[in-house]
Amino acid sequence: MIDLHTHSLFSDGTNSPEELALKADQLGLTAVALTDHDTLDGLPRFLAAQPRVQTHLVPGIEISCRFMGYELHVVGLFVDPENLLFQKRIQEIRRRRSDRNIKMVHRLQTLGIPITLEDVARCAPSELLSRMHFAQALVHLGSVPTPQEAFRRLIGDGCSGHVPFEELTPEETVQWIREAGGVPILAHPGRSVNRNFPWDQAMLDLKKKGFAGFEAYYTDYGPQEHRYFCALAQRTGMVPSGGSDYHGDCKPGVHLGTGKGNLQIPDEILPLLQAQRGLAPSP
Ligand code: AMP
Ligand code: MN
Ligand code: MN
Ligand code: MN
Repeated sequence: MIDLHTHSLFSDGTNSPEELALKADQLGLTAVALTDHDTLDGLPRFLAAQPRVQTHLVPGIEISCRFMGYELHVVGLFVDPENLLFQKRIQEIRRRRSDRNIKMVHRLQTLGIPITLEDVARCAPSELLSRMHFAQALVHLGSVPTPQEAFRRLIGDGCSGHVPFEELTPEETVQWIREAGGVPILAHPGRSVNRNFPWDQAMLDLKKKGFAGFEAYYTDYGPQEHRYFCALAQRTGMVPSGGSDYHGDCKPGVHLGTGKGNLQIPDEILPLLQAQRGLAPSP
């Protein structure tokens, strides 16, 4: 089994990169990818653990773009963390994230919550501040009882305290990931967009833009959704990738490799993805 979508404490997870590699090895996973949001910082330590484990360690990242009015997440697998151009691109994304964070603090203040950027930073183990850390800060301040409640009432998508950040286009996202030697995969399409979305047409459009595949295996999918996205991969000729979106203790009940218990991503997916490295988008 493999797991191609996980987070470490370099974004909004709670495990170190080494812990992730060792955990994956103990579970007997064939491969695991570290795909932190908007940062490459965990990847050198993750890859340095390779000699200590049998599990194939895949460097990755998760970034966001806007498509047909929706915020879509994109996992870039096999990206080269040493690529200087890519590092600069990611720095630009981080600048946009920081701007967004300042706006979110102001927005929450206008809602009567006495939160500061320092409160959020205290909840984050690295320099990257995400809504996960806002959620924790809001709990510490006593504004909400749990992080889940923070997302439900204040900072979830579309809530009054949420400010989206200046997003990339799908074309930019693909170009940036491809330039760094990576393979762009649409993350959890079934989680990002309502049901009844014209996925066949949209996915073929994204394929034309250079996406190699999408997550047909994902923690939050039910059996029907999983079957739907596997069939969609067949129809579109895209690779059915997948992962647990493991965040450690930040997402209790979501386990590395197995998600909520039933996730099983077959080894055969990995060579299909590796074959997409260095390929130009196919029509
Ligand atoms: P950001 O990238 O800073 O906008 O934060 C997004 C992160 O917040 C996601 O990657 C999730 O880890 C987390 N998140 C977003 N929405 C929810 C939600 N409704 N419940 C729990 N976590 C969420
Ligand atoms: Mn996250
Ligand atoms: Mn995501
Ligand atoms: Mn993720």
